[in-house]
This record gives sequence, C-alpha cells and structure tokens, in this order.
Amino acid sequence: MLLDTSIDYLKGVGPSRADLLKRELGIFTYRQLLQHYPFRYVDKTKFHRINSIGKSEDPVQIRGILRKMTLQGDGRKRRLVGTFRDNTGVLELVWFKGIKWIQDSLKVGAEYVIYGTPNVFNGKINIVHPEIELMNPNKEKKPSTLEPIYHTTDKLRAKRLDAKGISKLMQELLKIIHSKRQQLHETLPLLLINSLKFPTRWEAMLWVHFPINQAQQKAARNRLKFEELFFMQLRILRAKGQRKLGIRGFIFEKIGTYFNTFYKNNLKFDLTGAQKRVLREIRQDMRSNLQMNRLLQGDVGSGKTVVGFMSILMALDNDFQAAMIAPTEILAQQHFESLQEMAAGLDIRIEILTGSTKTKARRTLLEDLAEGKIQILLGTHALLEDKVIFKNLGLAIVDEQHRFGVAQRAKMWRKNKNGVPHILVMTATPIPRTLAMTVYGDLDVSVIDEMPPGRKPIQTFHKYENTHRLWVFGQMKREIAKGHQVYVVYPLIEDTGKETMADIKNLDEGHQVLSREFPMPQYQISVVHGRQKPEDKEFEMQRFIKGETQIMIATTVIEVGVNVPNATMMIIENAERFGLAQLHQLRGRVGRGGGDAYCILITGYKLSSDGKFRMKTMTETTDGFKISEADLKLRGPGNIEGTQQSGILSFKIADLVKDGAILREARKLAAKILEDDPNLEHEDNRPILFQLNQSQTKKGFGRIS
Ligand code: ADP
Ligand code: MG
Repeated sequence: MLLDTSIDYLKGVGPSRADLLKRELGIFTYRQLLQHYPFRYVDKTKFHRINSIGKSEDPVQIRGILRKMTLQGDGRKRRLVGTFRDNTGVLELVWFKGIKWIQDSLKVGAEYVIYGTPNVFNGKINIVHPEIELMNPNKEKKPSTLEPIYHTTDKLRAKRLDAKGISKLMQELLKIIHSKRQQLHETLPLLLINSLKFPTRWEAMLWVHFPINQAQQKAARNRLKFEELFFMQLRILRAKGQRKLGIRGFIFEKIGTYFNTFYKNNLKFDLTGAQKRVLREIRQDMRSNLQMNRLLQGDVGSGKTVVGFMSILMALDNDFQAAMIAPTEILAQQHFESLQEMAAGLDIRIEILTGSTKTKARRTLLEDLAEGKIQILLGTHALLEDKVIFKNLGLAIVDEQHRFGVAQRAKMWRKNKNGVPHILVMTATPIPRTLAMTVYGDLDVSVIDEMPPGRKPIQTFHKYENTHRLWVFGQMKREIAKGHQVYVVYPLIEDTGKETMADIKNLDEGHQVLSREFPMPQYQISVVHGRQKPEDKEFEMQRFIKGETQIMIATTVIEVGVNVPNATMMIIENAERFGLAQLHQLRGRVGRGGGDAYCILITGYKLSSDGKFRMKTMTETTDGFKISEADLKLRGPGNIEGTQQSGILSFKIADLVKDGAILREARKLAAKILEDDPNLEHEDNRPILFQLNQSQTKKGFGRIS
C-alpha cells in the first residue's frame, strides 16, 4: 500500500527530518502524514489594518508601504528594523537573521504584503521575521485560498518544518497520491456518501489540506470526522454484536416469591416511572438467552440501589446467587445494611466481604459461597480476588463503576465455575452522552432520568472564606436547631489522589475551629478520614448515621454513596479544589429526606476562570447531566473519571465536545448497516469491510466491564 510507505521516502524529507517527524509528531508513514490535519486555516485573501490589530495571537496579513530600514543594536542583539505603514497606523518589522540579504532585496518606499504574528513590545506592535512580498496588483484576482496551519514543534521548525514546511510536504504527498489515484481507497459506501452529500475520500483529503474556500474545508472536515466516528462505532457495535452471539446468558424465566413478596410487603414507596422502565429493560435482558451487559445511569439520589436490589431478587427467584461490589468499605457496609433492611422477612442470606473481614470468618464465608449457601454477597475489591468463587452467580452489580478499572470489572465475568453472570454497572455521576456512546459504547444503557417525588433542588451558595465564616456558622446552627445534620468536607490538598498528612492537618484545624464554635455537650462532632482504622471510621460514621452527632467533618471519603436522609446541609471547604463531578457527588449526599436542603461552597477570593465556571455551574443547576456536559467542556473527554484507561479517545479530527451531533449520526448509521448486514458481506459495504480489516489490528476494543 502506498500509504504505508515510510516517511523517509518522501521527497523533501531526508534522514534527519524523517527522524524528527517520527519522534516529534509520531509520523512514520505517508498515511500518518496525510492524517496530520491542519488545526486551523488562515485566509490569505483578507487584509488587516494596522489599527485593528488587537491582542490576538493569530497571524495577520497587511498591505502597506515600507518606510524606513535601520540597523539597531550590536553583537548578538543586532537586528534590522523596518517601519511599515498603512493608512491607519505603523508597526515594526524585525529581522535577526539574514539581515544582509533582506536589506539588499527590499526597497524602501515600495508597497508590500506582509504576513506574520504580531507582538506587542515596549508599547509598539512588531512582527518578527514576517513573510514579505511585493504587492502584486493581480493578487486580489487569484481564487481565494485558505492556508493550512499545522501543529509542529520547535525542533521541527529548526529544520524548516514550520506550518509552511509541513504544508510543502503535504503538497508533495498529495501529488504522489494523485498520480496513483487508485491507491486512495474509498472507505464509505457510495450510497452513504451520496445520501450525506459528502465529498469523496480523495476530495476530502485534498480539501482538508488545501481548501479554496470555507465551504470546502467544512465539507472535508465533516466527512473526515464522520468517518472517524463511524468506524469507531462500527467496531464497538460489532464487538457488542459478536459478544452477544458468543456468550449465552442465564435465562431468568420467572418472577417468583422473593420479588413478589418484596414488592407487596417491603417496598415502602412507589417506584418512579423511570425506575419501572429500567427494571423492565433489565428483566428483558435477563430472560432472553443473551448475557446482559448493561450500564445503569442515574443522577445521585435517583434510586439506583432499589433497582439493583430488585434485579438481584430476579436472580434469586431463579435459584441463582448475586453479588454487588462497591468501591469503598463504607459504601459496601451501607449497601449491606440497606439490603438487609429491604430483605427483611424474606429469608435471604446476605453476607459482606471486605479487606477487614477476619481470616476465619472469611474461610467459612468462601466455603458457604462455593456451596451456594450465601445468596447475596456484597463487598469491596476483596470480592474480586481469585479465591472468591460462586456456585452459580447469576448477576453481578458494580456500583459506582468509574472507581473500578476495566481489568477489575472484567474479573466479575469469571466468578463462576460455569457461565458468565449478567452484569449491571451503575454510575454515580451521569456520563455525557458522547462519552456514553464511545467509552461505554458496547454496553446497553438504561437511564433513570426522574427523581423520586418530593425532592426539592438543593439550594446552593458560593461564599468566600474570609468574609462569610460567621454567616456559615449561623446557617449550620439554624439547621442543627431544626434537628438536622451537617457535613463539612475538606479536599485533598495535594493532587496525589491519596490523603496526606497535610490533608489531615487541614481537617484537624477545621475541627478545632468548629469545636470552639460548636462546643460539647450541646453539639457532637464526628470526624472521618482515610487514615483512620476501618473500625474507627465505622464507629464515627455510625454515630452520625444514628443521629448522635450533628456535624460530620470528613475528607472526601464520604463522597460516594453515603445515605443519611436527616443530613440537610453540605459545606464544602476549598471548593475550588474539587472537580465538578466530585462537587455534584458531594452535594448529592444531602436532600435525601425530602425537605429543604443546602449546599455551601466555600472558596478563597482568588479563583481561576475554571474555578469560577465550576462554582457558577454548581449554583445554577442541580441536573447531573448538565453538570457532566459542563465538566466535559472544561476538562475534555480524556479527563472525565472512568475514561482515562479506555484508550479509545484519541481522535485525529473528531472532537467529542463539539461533534456530538456527528457522533449520533455515525452511531445511528453504523447500527443500521450492521442490522441489515451483520457480517458486512453486501457488495455495497465492501469499502467498509476493507477499511475495517486494514485497521483491525491497530485498536483493540477490550471489554468495558
Ligand atoms: P443512588 O441512585 O444515588 O444510589 P439511592 O439508591 O441511594 O440513590 O436512593 C436515594 C434515596 O431515595 C434512598 O433513601 C431511597 O430509599 C430513596 N428512593 C429510591 N427510590 C425512591 C422512590 N421511587 N420514591 C421515594 N424514595 C425513593
Ligand atoms: Mg448509590
């Protein structure tokens, strides 16, 4: 294949440039060069006026007269300075190199067109080493062209591979491809190209690098974006289809005594419409002979636990075991308690396995599990160990799935001697749609998009630490006087992901201040952080859960899952240190009892613009989906929790933040094509199959869970 030719062979490259292209930009082949798309274009038909040059960092093109040329400085600082004027103002052109040549070739008094990036220096505008050519009166008659601007590096620039240099290589490459036109295979079916009014692949490549107008550039980019997303979706959906064909699921035919008794006697509230719909989707999966691999999305407090529990009962009714893992011991413990409560009177044996389960108890537990005497096992990572084997695990639930790595989640698939359990993964924070379609694209998705009735949005305030302390104390006292409870959360100070002594110190100081303001015996305070022994942590948590303490001071260990309906106020110290997802999670700890609930975000006066945006987002909305979209905009797809390891987010041209609409279209069409022609055997789909086989080995899509 022509495109697989090593970059060394391209005219104008040579060994040292080839070396740099490989090292600096990862360009080893013609194909990789071709896919080094411009990140923007400059319109060379537009002329700027000197008085309109702002602080923009974009290059400008100006028409004017070269008025004067003087040599300034000496030694290494020697430079040639030209005064350049149009009828709106003056700027300086500066050369440090090639001075003699420039002096000889430029004519003072002549009209020139210059092009370069303006700087402001000592209150004057200058352009260093501008491109400069004599004004050609015919220039305006040329067809308009957009000049591609490519990413490059200093080392490449030193070898004259600046944007212009790369553009020259690109021209050379396109010339070669053009002469062997059959080598650039069309990748999309003609029908698709026609119906979407896309340019051909050749046109797209030509236009993306050298468009003569905006319309061409847009058409080319659209097609290339679509193509990239389309093939990604095709791969994901194909893998999903093959998995479904390849793995037989346990069939849960009946809804039995457990489920019905729970529904009749134990369920204290009406399920929301969304909860019912999701349960139907889960039931549908688990009664088919396909293995369920489903992502359950729902905002904090939307009631995922009860849905998980009722799914577990379906497994139990069909004589299977069930498991549920949670990322922290506190959360596992909490699930243990709430499941026991929900299972009251149902005669179900529920056990919990964590890092702190004692050796002897663990041994008995593992034996009983293997013999099928335990019906539901809850736990933390401890449950993932190889020794933990079920007799017949029918359903595995992963709560707060983003806290588990892909490999860890995959372990749940192998917990049985025979057969793969159904898998339900639940998210703590809604995932932006574009990410759900990519990173979690091979899972079926259920969404709980409705809150239990009576929930009021949590009132959120942003306050400054120096000026509003007393106000905050007052608010806390008011809530406590009503018999309610308050969380005060401290961030991790260093960005290590783990608590450090400095974090504890920060929290300790806060504790001292609060102890003075809220003295015993009138007030009781719980303190919880990651450095405590599990039993101490548990003891402090329990005091708060039972209502014996009114204030809980904690680091982020309480972030996930804790459910204390009587807690109505969440105070977040140094809130600027938290990401949006975390802030939303923390806020979700309150307002679970139905009444008014409050969240106070405390920050310093100085905030970065990101920080301001986060505080603004939090005070403006409580909708987790909106917050996750804002988070995506702020941090980009690679930094959203749970996506880092996926490795499928490195796009050449598509952008998940901006190209959501294209992605949806690509996914829809990929699904439709696979539905009509699962093995891509149809004549029309030949280009697709060809392209897939070409790149099959490059990206492996592992199982997500
Ligand atoms: P999350 O989705 O964040 O895991 P939980 O499952 O912890 O939320 O549910 C939050 C609270 O809402 C729990 O106290 C739960 O009992 C309650 N809840 C769940 N579903 C309903 C419902 N349909 N009506 C009223 N309360 C509900
Ligand atoms: Mg939960």
